[in-house]
Amino acid sequence: SYYTECPLFRNQLGRATWSYLHTMAAYYPSNPSQIEQTKMKDFIDTFAKTFPCKHCSTDFQEEVEKNPPRVENNEQLSKWFCEQHNVVNQKLGKAEFDCDRVFERWKFGYSKNPKCKGYL
Ligand code: FAD
Repeated sequence: SYYTECPLFRNQLGRATWSYLHTMAAYYPSNPSQIEQTKMKDFIDTFAKTFPCKHCSTDFQEEVEKNPPRVENNEQLSKWFCEQHNVVNQKLGKAEFDCDRVFERWKFGYSKNPKCKGYL
């Protein structure tokens, strides 16, 4: 059975981390200041360099170099993280996520499911 006091497997850490990153992006300002934009870029740079799955970190740093973060607003940042997550999905043979639905998944909830609402 699932024992929550154990150290994380890579997939558990991945799922928790993506949940954090997509939620952070969804709640990022729609009109961030220059300082907020710089802090977000610095955060992503540090995150990429310190993510504890080593080969995930190496690959993610390369992707960030190729396709720099779009920090101009919450919509662009959410789409950027969604695209990055899709790069990993593709690498792992998982289904691609429709990035037009990223706010439904991570901020507002799917209208088809009234129980599925955001709580922050
Ligand atoms: P996850 O992929 O963790 O997704 C969680 C939920 O997010 C899904 O149920 C879905 O509702 C939603 N979702 C899915 N795709 C998207 C998207 N594109 N945009 C928005 N929401 C989406 N694992 C490896 O084995 N090798 C790696 O190299 C690797 N690199 C990683 C790099 C980073 C930066 C991170 C954060 C994780 C990485 N992982 C890697 C972990 C991997 O991405 C998954 O988190 C893990 O395999 C668990 O997958 P999952 O099926 O539970 O769902």
